[in-house]
Amino acid sequence: MKVGYVYDPIYLQHDTGYHVENPSRLTAIMNYLEKTGTLPRLVEIKPRAATTDELAAVHDRQYIAYVEYVARKGGAWVDADTVMSPKSFDAAVFAAGGIIRATETVMDGELDSCFGLVRPPGHHATFDRSMGFCLFNNVAVAAKYALAKYKLDRIAIIDFDVHQGNGTQEAFYDNPHVLYVSTHQFPYYPGTGQVDEIGAGAGKGTILNIPLAAGCGDAEYLQVFREVIVPKVQRYQPQLIMVSAGYDIHWIDELAQMQVTTTGLAEMAKIIRGLAAESCGGKMVFVLEGGYHLEALSTSVKATFDVLLGKDKIDDVLGPPKKRVSNPDVLSLIRQLKEIHQLY
Ligand SMILES: [Zn+2]
Repeated sequence: MKVGYVYDPIYLQHDTGYHVENPSRLTAIMNYLEKTGTLPRLVEIKPRAATTDELAAVHDRQYIAYVEYVARKGGAWVDADTVMSPKSFDAAVFAAGGIIRATETVMDGELDSCFGLVRPPGHHATFDRSMGFCLFNNVAVAAKYALAKYKLDRIAIIDFDVHQGNGTQEAFYDNPHVLYVSTHQFPYYPGTGQVDEIGAGAGKGTILNIPLAAGCGDAEYLQVFREVIVPKVQRYQPQLIMVSAGYDIHWIDELAQMQVTTTGLAEMAKIIRGLAAESCGGKMVFVLEGGYHLEALSTSVKATFDVLLGKDKIDDVLGPPKKRVSNPDVLSLIRQLKEIHQLY
């Protein structure tokens, strides 16, 4: 398995001060990959800047100009959750361009899979608005790029971040060429992602929202993956699978209330690996979204790389939560989703 990663020190220059989404997230990941001897097993891919035209496939040109303007002026809070520094625009265009490069290396057959270790994250960024720590929608920009450059018909984006990727959903709501699948805590930020948000027009049925009650752990996640996501993606037959990988579902991550372990995250990656193997020759592009507990983040990203490299046994240094807070029942949700998406 040839597996790559995208990283560049420019991503550290998006300086958010004491914000939970800060450069130490990426330094923790890179240090851990180094310490565990993972980096030499991976191919390093250098990002490039996304062009304005590439960003404009997803974003309003006025909004792009505004983000650049705020950075040139020295930075500012651009919404209640998102702060910019002088270099944030450059980091953001290299984040989007980094995922474009990751996608190219996989589509060109240079690599089997590639993981973009980028920031700022992207899945909340809408057509004309920053949201939830996100400036440009990295996964959506790269998916649009791949559809055009490689004339693809079907890309699946699987988003397991604890928050629903409202920006990604918006970008492809009426687009049949992208299947967007999201598992997320609900009700929770940003408030979108109910079961009946399934896409519209030609894209009706190509949005799959799986809103999960707080407290879900490995068993619940793996059950919805196996019973809902697997048949939906199999039926769609994607030519490329992109993953909005958010590690804020880890039990020790305090930004939300899920109870997934590193082992569970690796199991989800294995299911995605299996889907990619059977539908698109294993082509996968992982994109870093959230994940704010540095040890959970770095060890779980490493476990993801191990799965991409073909390993089945991974290290789970944090183990399971001492005490499960609750065991939400996902059976009725699964039944409802099977009905809505005709997965019988
Ligand atoms: Zn998140």
